[in-house]
Amino acid sequence: MQPGTRKGRTSRHLDLLLALRWIQSRCTQPLGTLPQTKTRYKALPKFPEAVLPVTIGLMNRIVVSASGEAPGCVSSSSPPSSVTEVSSPSPSTSTISSSSTSSSALAKILCPEIFTAKVLSCKEASLKTVVNGKKELLNGFEVILDDTILFPEGGGQPCDRGFLGSVPVVQVSRHGTDAVHFVTEPLVEGETLRQMLDWDRRLDHMQQHSGQHLVTAIADLEFGYPTTSWWLGEEVSYIELDTPTIKQEEITNIERIVNDKIRASSPVDVQVFGEVGLIPETVRTRGLPDGHKGPVRVVTIQGVESNMCCGTHVSNLCQLQVIKLLHAEKGKKNKTNLHFLVGGRVLKHLAGCLEREQKFTALLKGGPTDHVNLVDKLQKSLKLTNKNVQTVLKDLAVLEAEKLKRRDPLPKYYCLHRKEGDTDFMNVFINEVSNQRPAMEKRSVLEMLFRVYAAEIWTLNVREAKKVEAMGINGYMTQPQTGNDDDDDYELDPVLLFLTVGEDKGAGQMVLYGDSQPVSQLGPKVCEMLKGKGAGKGPKFQAKVSNLENRAQAEHTIEQYFNSSN
Ligand SMILES: [Zn+2]
Repeated sequence: MQPGTRKGRTSRHLDLLLALRWIQSRCTQPLGTLPQTKTRYKALPKFPEAVLPVTIGLMNRIVVSASGEAPGCVSSSSPPSSVTEVSSPSPSTSTISSSSTSSSALAKILCPEIFTAKVLSCKEASLKTVVNGKKELLNGFEVILDDTILFPEGGGQPCDRGFLGSVPVVQVSRHGTDAVHFVTEPLVEGETLRQMLDWDRRLDHMQQHSGQHLVTAIADLEFGYPTTSWWLGEEVSYIELDTPTIKQEEITNIERIVNDKIRASSPVDVQVFGEVGLIPETVRTRGLPDGHKGPVRVVTIQGVESNMCCGTHVSNLCQLQVIKLLHAEKGKKNKTNLHFLVGGRVLKHLAGCLEREQKFTALLKGGPTDHVNLVDKLQKSLKLTNKNVQTVLKDLAVLEAEKLKRRDPLPKYYCLHRKEGDTDFMNVFINEVSNQRPAMEKRSVLEMLFRVYAAEIWTLNVREAKKVEAMGINGYMTQPQTGNDDDDDYELDPVLLFLTVGEDKGAGQMVLYGDSQPVSQLGPKVCEMLKGKGAGKGPKFQAKVSNLENRAQAEHTIEQYFNSSN
């Protein structure tokens, strides 16, 4: 039955349903989320385009599958018995649920070609991984097969993922000439297993890698900027160009040309040469790894360039879909990093941009073309509001200080919390209280003069009398007094101020201000109660705190301090 006829489509539909049921029946255990492996390729490779000998044998298999479609993918009515299982989830996604498997995904699953491999060895091992940003050591097994379709990391490209039988492959790396598969369950040596490939991840890597070849070639051919290394990131990739700067106009031109090439649908060929000497001089290379022997692989974008490379590639530039150059930034050693996206990543990025744009439209109550103006207006308005709030808060601090100063007698300590307050609020309050301490004491200058001189006559303290004369009466009155003073009416101890600002039950700031003795004793205690970090010097202890809910407890501690010191 020819595909496209009515009966053909129905038959295919039935096959897809059968395939789905077959997969559901096989998926008795979840496919599992692959932990994000530690990116061992974090440092830029010295020879990003180098051909590594290990890949030659393996890549002949991989190239077959790197045709722009899933390995051996067909869209005809293959019987469910010949179904190859679906790819594993990509690292950023969780388990693939069979119920959410779309028809297009199923089309990829229907693969008549089954890749099998024999387990040569399986040894206990551990792997450094990063799960949700946390470093973890994953215990498992290192498996070597007689052949593999899973690309081991190398040449700037991360490894493939997939399954060996029903066991997920967490990482594939190169150990000498072996591709080592890290799995979390033991496999039986000598057993022949079906290999399955995470096709979404493979296709993404093929697009980014072949796209990199194309951008590198055009940047060099058109502007003479050679690529010195490249980085295939989880989200965005970049090439490092050997130039201190690149103009926006040049970036725009490179982008236009590479997309022209994609539209022209140039084939991408892979050739394997028996030895380096047989490779034409026109092939681009920056050298082979030390000690390389044997065949060398050359990837050619027809009409563009040839390049020694071990990575996985598309078979035609049209499979790249589109290339978007994002931005350039200063790199290391006078070089420039040019960031880019290829194919599916462009669509994903665009989808993210559109989603954000829609949210902005709803928030700003204006269309995308007005977004910049609307945000600019909001920022200016916010700046003005903040300024007004600052002024009001300062006025409030002055009023609060007045309220305290009117109290008679003055308390030994005073606690004030203001949710909306800030550092300025607390400082203004402290200044207002401190600067007018003589007024708080409600002493007239005459009263004070009388007291001072009476005291001096009584004690004949010539030294203190000279000090008073030098400082003037106001200066004297603002100085903390020491020594015995039996007359309580003239006690000059300042009020201990305990000020807090911030969320009633959350984070904020605290200041303890007053005599250095209670401040130094109470500051660290109160700070600890409020779960803060801070320090004190002289009359002031200040801290950033994370739990203002314990304010009452802190106030009680201050109260106890003064009760016990009475
Ligand atoms: Zn390459």
